[in-house]
Amino acid sequence: MLRADALKSADYIGKSVTIRGWVYRLRKQKENTFLIVRDDRGGVIQSVLPTSIVPANLTIESSVQITGVLNRDKRAPEGGYEIRGNNIKIFNIADSDYPIGEFQSVDLLLDNRHLALRARKMVAIAKIRASVLKLARNWFIMNDWMEITAPIIVKGAVEGGATLFKINYFGNDYAYLSQSAQLYLEAMVFSLGRVWSMTPSFRAESSRTVRHLSEFTHLEAEAPWVELEDVLKVQEELISEIIKNIIVERQAEFALLKRDISTLDKIKPPFERISYEKAIDYLRSIDFTVLDKDGRNRKIELGDDLNIDSERELTKEALQPKFIVGYPLKVKPFYIKEDPQNVGYGLAVDMLAPDGFGEITSGGMREDNNQVLTTRMQKEGLDINNYQWYLDLRRYGSVPHGGFGLGIERLIRWIIRIDDIKDAVLFPRTMSRVSP
Ligand code: ATP
Ligand code: MG
Repeated sequence: MLRADALKSADYIGKSVTIRGWVYRLRKQKENTFLIVRDDRGGVIQSVLPTSIVPANLTIESSVQITGVLNRDKRAPEGGYEIRGNNIKIFNIADSDYPIGEFQSVDLLLDNRHLALRARKMVAIAKIRASVLKLARNWFIMNDWMEITAPIIVKGAVEGGATLFKINYFGNDYAYLSQSAQLYLEAMVFSLGRVWSMTPSFRAESSRTVRHLSEFTHLEAEAPWVELEDVLKVQEELISEIIKNIIVERQAEFALLKRDISTLDKIKPPFERISYEKAIDYLRSIDFTVLDKDGRNRKIELGDDLNIDSERELTKEALQPKFIVGYPLKVKPFYIKEDPQNVGYGLAVDMLAPDGFGEITSGGMREDNNQVLTTRMQKEGLDINNYQWYLDLRRYGSVPHGGFGLGIERLIRWIIRIDDIKDAVLFPRTMSRVSP
């Protein structure tokens, strides 16, 4: 059975066709009933049925199958095709109190997310999301990277203790929900070479922002025998390839979302690289201020981390994503390798999306000296016992290696220009929401 978009073709005019789906719009008149069906991929087509064959209690979101003759009628919405129905089969008459209408509060829509996802805009986003996942996977397959899966239940923190979800592990033990698969990816470069994974990561983010979820889809990659520049290249190629294909594959969805893709069309490697120090110089030149620990505003200085506001300043006029290279070690996790050429700074890189969408990836080279690693872990207050296996990786045949992590929802948020990251995922998890 064809879906609505495939049916809308000159080939089927005058022929008998059948469509299956849900009642999207319903307008009953004395003689005729106009019924728009939404199919199971969000496509819609109008049908006109004799009111005499339409059940009197038919409601919005009832599931139906309609058979009739396809007709071209300029007045029909969504492309000017219409089914002159002569048969309607009912699978289920929906309750008449469907909670989602045209103007609803954000909270009501989130409470009813399981139903809100049927809205055509949400279907379009879900399709773009599916394509991002597919295209990312394709890129890694085409370029000979091995996919792995890492455990979600772990003993060690990776990104700092403040955002850890602690779980009870069989009564007398504890564990955490993973913040990143990175340490496990590092373990796998010794047996599989270039590896990548796409797994959920969990962060107990207590600040409510439009960029943070407590569960997000984390695409991570790690490779042996690379230099920092290689880590940048992989990212710009991966992202450019995803974008190049998605604007073709999901053209209709971008149009439905009214997203102009002409800026995405220009995304091509190489992306601009600027040093962290240059970035700070620039921010100082425009008198950019940050809040210091005492709650006072002061001019940004070397050593400060970049936040969303400084990231926005740095990418205001950018047409492409931008790499910021060489952050201070103290604002990066323990495993980032120190730059031998620049003491106190790390071989670390973040990719910032244009137009203030901020950080979408973070990566770098990994520290391979166990003494340095141990000292850094202790400084961060980590229990070395939980990382003995990780230190083993340096004891037995370590090689230079590096990689990065990309937040899939951050990427989608930027590509589609969604205000709130919650709309880049189907069932968002945040501090105030774990259901539906
Ligand atoms: P930020 O500083 O923006 O909060 P981060 O530096 O803490 O992010 P990383 O630990 O570097 O994040 O994680 C790698 C990538 O995962 C980030 O670049 C981002 O794309 C994504 N990411 C991190 N935290 C979240 C989150 N809470 N929700 C959604 N995506 C996230
Ligand atoms: Mg980061």
